[in-house]
Amino acid sequence: MKMTRRRDSELVRVFRYIKPRRTAYLSGLIGCSLADASVPIVMALVLRLVLDAITEGDMKAVVTTGLLFAAIIAVLMAITPAVHYGFAKTVKRTMAELRETVYGHIEKLPVAYYENTHSGDSISRINNDVAVVENVYAGEIRIVLTVVSTGLYSAALMFWPDWRFASAMIALGCLSTYINSRYAGPIRRISEEIQRSAARQLERLGDLVAGTQMVRVYQMFDRMVQKFREENRLWARLSIRRTFMSSMLNGTNYLLLWINNGGAFIVGAIMIFYGEMTLGTLIALILLLEEVTNMFRHSGALWANLQASLAGAARVFELLDREPEPRRYPSPAGEGAAGDPACAIEIRDASFEYGGGERVIDGLNLKVPRGQVVALVGPSGGGKSTVLKLLIGLYPLLRGEILIEGRRLTDMDLEELRSKIAYVSQDAYLFDGTIEENIRYGKPDATFEEIVEAARAAHAHDFILEQPDGYDTVVGERGGRLSGGQKQRIAIARALLKNAPILLVDEATSALDSDSEHAVQQGLRRLMKGKTTIAVAHRPSTIRQADVICVVDKGRIVEQGTHGELLAAGGLYARLHGDRTEHHAV
Ligand code: ADP
Repeated sequence: MKMTRRRDSELVRVFRYIKPRRTAYLSGLIGCSLADASVPIVMALVLRLVLDAITEGDMKAVVTTGLLFAAIIAVLMAITPAVHYGFAKTVKRTMAELRETVYGHIEKLPVAYYENTHSGDSISRINNDVAVVENVYAGEIRIVLTVVSTGLYSAALMFWPDWRFASAMIALGCLSTYINSRYAGPIRRISEEIQRSAARQLERLGDLVAGTQMVRVYQMFDRMVQKFREENRLWARLSIRRTFMSSMLNGTNYLLLWINNGGAFIVGAIMIFYGEMTLGTLIALILLLEEVTNMFRHSGALWANLQASLAGAARVFELLDREPEPRRYPSPAGEGAAGDPACAIEIRDASFEYGGGERVIDGLNLKVPRGQVVALVGPSGGGKSTVLKLLIGLYPLLRGEILIEGRRLTDMDLEELRSKIAYVSQDAYLFDGTIEENIRYGKPDATFEEIVEAARAAHAHDFILEQPDGYDTVVGERGGRLSGGQKQRIAIARALLKNAPILLVDEATSALDSDSEHAVQQGLRRLMKGKTTIAVAHRPSTIRQADVICVVDKGRIVEQGTHGELLAAGGLYARLHGDRTEHHAV
């Protein structure tokens, strides 16, 4: 019962999306249903007239009926395609909007969602599940309406020649509806399982595609295929079970159909024999009865299908119901004192955990005056990248405060915060598209000259010109067609173009060849000029460029100073530096 109520509300929600096109949708729906319903009813009535005319030898009536039939068909031929077209247009546009809504919502979800949810799951929801919603608009509801209006109309017409005959037949129809409705629940549950399994298959495929290099290096083919096979077989088993249940349902329905028709035939023949019915009437009644039983039979099956489609809708709504990233974060510290505007970035006693209960940032303090370059160094897992993520506002703090140019982060919209920041990530993420588009993300309204200028400054211009289509070269998914150093220089050009006052750099740990390394360094140096920079630094050259080096360990800054000072202090930095030089020597 509870489940049914939930589904009902999903039905209401599905129709909320059609609301702006309510009139077009409803007229299309009614138009399609009436046009489709007219054909069998007209057929039955015409057949009755023709057969009776033939039995009575009235040729004139036969011709008149034939002409009437032709006229009606001509009208239907003109109307039916037009209403179907109008209806389909309304539905397709609504579907396009729904897909955009889902896409737009996924984009606004907090970063934590992406980290906890497999990309395949989101893809499956926007692909498979949204597509299933279309069945509700254009499939089941329209068919229900067609079938029900044909059925009711036929039932009314059946009462007209003989009410007893009609009542008996309709009672049989009710029985078949009851039987059909018994199948609805199990079919819905199995459909939900099938949708979930389809989503998991996409996840497997996503892993294979995204991790293709790892899959090769670690020879994971067999294990990946095995995982996919298990999921795929489960999907097949479930689909076969659903087919089995539908077949059982269809079989039962055929049996009921024959009982109905056979009964009608016998009763009709007896009535004709006693002169209570004409042959034309009996044939017309049997045809109309077919429509009435169709209504009973299909309304049950359609109810089951509708449930299956609503299972898809439920997965879409589950995603839409997730809270998007807020416009700004609430302050964990309540009212706090304003900071020094000359200080570009200030982190006060910040604490943060990802959700596992482990303090990743634990009472961290940092002050970065305008124009200064700070290098974050320290053991892996110490929390350096997390500091950058917190500064971009990807997560709210658990405790403490971040101030940007003297203003609390919690007093500004995330949009404003992010407009002040340029970010060069470790993997220098590129979107599939051209090189020019990838640089342009830094400033959407940039002129081509500005893009070239940024590329030059990032030491990217020369290699871009060497590409087959220059700036119009398509970089491939995640920039797969470019080398690591080239991707980084494009990312630097993008950040240069943004020209934001604060720069965050998460340096790649993997080394580049020395030419690339040099070019990237040059680009970075240019990028940092005049900006306040926090860089998670791995390269000695970046570390040397920094005004202050902060050693981050276990979520706090444990040492702070210049290279010389920190070496002299003989602490963690000196030890790490020792390791590194030793490592390099080897
Ligand atoms: P660093 O950059 O110093 O290597 P990170 O900031 O990447 O360190 O990570 C700090 C700690 O936070 C690590 O223990 C890491 O496992 C954990 N961590 C990083 N990202 C996440 C995440 N998205 N979800 C949960 N834990 C994370």
